[in-house]
Amino acid sequence: MPDMPVTRLPSGISVPSLGLGTWKMGEDARSADREVESLKRGLDLGMTLIDTAEMYGEGGAEIITGRAIADRRDEVFLVSKVYPWNASRRGVIDACHRSLSRMKTDRIDLYLLHWRGEHELEATVAGFEDLRETGKIGAWGVSNFDADDMEGLLDVPAGENCAANQVLYNLSRRGIEYDLLPWCQQRGIPVMAYSPIEQGRILRNAELVRIAKAYQATPAQVALAFLIRQQGVIAIPKSSSPERVEENACAMALDISDRDWQALDLAFPPPRRKLPLEML
Ligand code: NDP
Repeated sequence: MPDMPVTRLPSGISVPSLGLGTWKMGEDARSADREVESLKRGLDLGMTLIDTAEMYGEGGAEIITGRAIADRRDEVFLVSKVYPWNASRRGVIDACHRSLSRMKTDRIDLYLLHWRGEHELEATVAGFEDLRETGKIGAWGVSNFDADDMEGLLDVPAGENCAANQVLYNLSRRGIEYDLLPWCQQRGIPVMAYSPIEQGRILRNAELVRIAKAYQATPAQVALAFLIRQQGVIAIPKSSSPERVEENACAMALDISDRDWQALDLAFPPPRRKLPLEML
């Protein structure tokens, strides 16, 4: 397998451009061992960024994550998220401590505001900065922020320390290419693409299937390769199947011709005007 492509964070740290999602994990005890195994398989294959949140399985996904990283914490770049209603200055600190104890670790590498809620960004950012100063988190960022939200964030004290924006981005949801993606690229703020295979819904698209076949690849691999070829984009596919994690990891090895990328542009057209950021 070739080397994993990497994305640089504003701090200068490089993280793999292909990571592991965890939404829907930790909801059913009967699936737990397989979920842990899937994450471990991903880590073995170089997908050493894990994305989780206090929301997923109401803490259950963080417990699964904690099990997967137990004897290899230093290999992993750990991302978690705080609920908006917990995102007061004091609330983010308390939520972070709960997440740390569920994951049985002493630090989260990147801690995100899951989406914008009722708390002032000033308060959330101040809480994030407190956590950074005490070493509980390495960096902080946001999720589901459109370009105008990002502009607003920069007006907040320490807002310029935002290290990532995690948003819905895949072949069938290319709206961010019009404004948000270039905005982030110009400022060196990575975009984490969530639902990178549109939760499986795009995988039967005829053109995607045709191109995948031409490379002896799968539609999921082509969909992921599309994302990680963009500068400053990290894709975080979720799978609770070790075999599918292996399949997804192989996306990094795909070398697709310009002609086929153009064919995909016809099947999944890029935006021609501003579209509001979509959310799942
Ligand atoms: P994905 O696009 O990653 O799709 C996940 C679904 O696709 C699962 O049902 C999975 O099933 C299936 N799947 C995975 N790999 C393959 C494959 N190779 N072939 C066919 N099916 C496959 O969707 P998610 O919504 O889970 O997004 C990824 C991650 O992004 C989340 O897990 C979460 O960490 C994050 N996220 C963040 C959000 C936010 O608001 N910040 C919102 C949504 C997601 P199976 O597990 O059975 O393999």
